[in-house]
Amino acid sequence: MGVPSVFLRTFGCNFKCAGFGMPRGELSKEAESVDPNKYSRYEELPLVSTGCDSYASWDPRFKDLSPVLTSDAIAERIMEILPHGKWKEEHLVITGGEPLLGWQRSYEDLLNHPRMQKLKEITFETNGTQELSKEFRHYLLDWTLNPKLGRRGRNALTFSVSAKLPASGERWEDAIRPDIVRSYEEIGHTYLKFVVATEEDVRDALKAHEQYRAAGFKGDVYLMPVGGVESVYSLNNKAVALHAMKHGLRYSDRLQVPLFKNEWGT
Ligand code: SF4
Repeated sequence: MGVPSVFLRTFGCNFKCAGFGMPRGELSKEAESVDPNKYSRYEELPLVSTGCDSYASWDPRFKDLSPVLTSDAIAERIMEILPHGKWKEEHLVITGGEPLLGWQRSYEDLLNHPRMQKLKEITFETNGTQELSKEFRHYLLDWTLNPKLGRRGRNALTFSVSAKLPASGERWEDAIRPDIVRSYEEIGHTYLKFVVATEEDVRDALKAHEQYRAAGFKGDVYLMPVGGVESVYSLNNKAVALHAMKHGLRYSDRLQVPLFKNEWGT
């Protein structure tokens, strides 16, 4: 938090998370009511207050709004956006959708690009359900130990795992995958965050937390308030912070919501 970061958003997700912001058992239809024919640019799309707040990054109806770019073009754009010079840490966050679907095959090409060699910190923002292929796992291990940087200059790899609780509308057995998250921890710094609104969500987070710990997960665990828009977020951020303190978990804010009102590009 607080470090200049570029977000690379890949298209596609294995979930829909239509339960966010809805009464338990109900699914949001808000994104379904957005008519793709009315919009020619991603940035023009309306924000939603229920369901997945990144709906346009996986719903096939909006695929045409996502550009298909070569590794060259992506590397150029990332370097153009980062504020070189004043910062030692510059950070690429690869998110989605779910960035660890078939895209795993493309990252090697991007990270090996000559323009990307100065970038030393990468985070995958994932839902924690996708196994890493053997090839990608080996590649990431090599990337973190980049010999060109010397012993003190290791590249930093993080898995930010937003595991989905029943409030998302996804099934527990599909969404809570301790074995997979444990395997991320073997190759990069890994933490879990649970998005919660109600006491029932907090109970689910504690139950999931136990399952991850039982599988050997050692990383930090955060609670984060539901709320892609400020009117929802401000209703429960303090309560979630208090729950986190009570249960010995960390609290994660949604800094982009109060600062930028969650506008596209933040
Ligand atoms: S896993 Fe993330 S991107 Fe996918 S539907 Fe859920 S909230 Fe949206």
